[in-house]
Amino acid sequence: MTKQQAPVAKNEYYDVTFTDLTHDGLGVAKVDGFPLFVKHALPGERAKVKVIKVKKGYGYGRLMELYEPSPDRVEPPCPVYRQCGGCQLQHLSYEGQLKAKEKQVKEVLARIGKLEGVTVHPVIGMKNPWRYRNKAQVPVGEREGGLVAGFYKERSHEIIDMDACLIQQEANDVVVQTVKRIAERYGIPPYDEATHKGVLRHIVARYGTATGEVMVVLVTRTERLPHEQEIVRAIVRDIPNVKSIVQNVNPERTNVIFGAKTRVLWGSEFITDRIGDIQFAISARSFYQVNPEQTKVLYDKALEYAELTGSETVMDAYCGIGTISLFLARKAKHVYGVEIVPEAIEDAKRNAELNGIRNVTFEVGAAEDVIPRWYQEGIRADCLVVDPPRKGCDASLLETIIAMKPPRVVYVSCNPATLARDLRILEDGGYETIEVQPVDMFPHTAHVECVAKIRLR
Ligand code: SAH
Repeated sequence: MTKQQAPVAKNEYYDVTFTDLTHDGLGVAKVDGFPLFVKHALPGERAKVKVIKVKKGYGYGRLMELYEPSPDRVEPPCPVYRQCGGCQLQHLSYEGQLKAKEKQVKEVLARIGKLEGVTVHPVIGMKNPWRYRNKAQVPVGEREGGLVAGFYKERSHEIIDMDACLIQQEANDVVVQTVKRIAERYGIPPYDEATHKGVLRHIVARYGTATGEVMVVLVTRTERLPHEQEIVRAIVRDIPNVKSIVQNVNPERTNVIFGAKTRVLWGSEFITDRIGDIQFAISARSFYQVNPEQTKVLYDKALEYAELTGSETVMDAYCGIGTISLFLARKAKHVYGVEIVPEAIEDAKRNAELNGIRNVTFEVGAAEDVIPRWYQEGIRADCLVVDPPRKGCDASLLETIIAMKPPRVVYVSCNPATLARDLRILEDGGYETIEVQPVDMFPHTAHVECVAKIRLR
């Protein structure tokens, strides 16, 4: 369909009925078969929309007037929900969010994976789906002489000041507010993107949900932090349970948050947290799941699907800092984990030591290179776990799995579309998908995490 043929035109108004939600949480309505995507609209709703962009085959609209709200619509509790963009589904009841995510997983598995018969369980949600994030990374700027710290307004680099983020642990809000006030008191100039001047770029807060430990990271453009001693003293005095204060220096013109250099200003280099009975040491730069409560739920499912009795050899491709590997090691003979980021493997080894877990081997490299080598060395996996990034498994890793035939595969996925694609490849290679359990790791956002149980036929 060309632009000329589109039945809608930019800046025109249309009365529409929404029929669906996209995977990123936009409402879908069709005008003469032409799909319009509209923020904050829900299936079943009738509304007036203004077309703001027309592309080949689809367009974007803005919700102007709601004639008939959905019974699942709720008032978003966050006062900055409309401007922020960090959450996409606060206007939908939590029940409704879980239903929408279940429907999305089912549809994608059927459409992309051609897996109509597979059991998809209802999404496991949180009892209290607020205040779950354990990490905040907040840009700092200036307005009318005062410091602001919050988020970038959508499609801009204007920083909107924020007192509270309702999906953040309260401790992280306290860090952001307190550091902002202290930096203001000592006249620390915020970083200015346009001129590449100023000092304080980001405030990063990390929180150990199970331990209550707090880490404060000050990301600065300059090596020198003016009034360092006073600032550190004030943070220690004003922020409860702070265990670690760290400075990271990022002198580059970039929107990447962290620079290469990290220095401990006070306390420990790490905070610790626990998932189940496994402890993790978390440094300023370590990757760590942002919702440990639901991570436990997800990994318990992965463990159940792995059906371990204690005598198995397990491979964990894409192992990160070894979270899944260590979780499974308690129930397996040996776990081999592979991960492409060297620092993550350092963390994984340290975490194994911290927990006294010895039946694990971690190796740096691409899963698609290392796993075939392990097989050549004679290592046979009874169960292979994959937890790839959004783009899914590398095609050659799937080929390796199909050639090496581990009897069980557990697939942890943060993207149902690539999960469906990869499950189809495994099905065609002799595997059967038994069941899929979605878990809500990120309430109020459009993301959904899944774990799939897969057997060799
Ligand atoms: N299972 C871990 C991390 C999963 S995130 C946890 O739950 O904490 C996916 C991981 O895959 C990331 O750590 C990323 O660095 C890694 N990765 C990406 N491509 C890879 C590849 N080709 N081989 C191995 N690891 C890879």
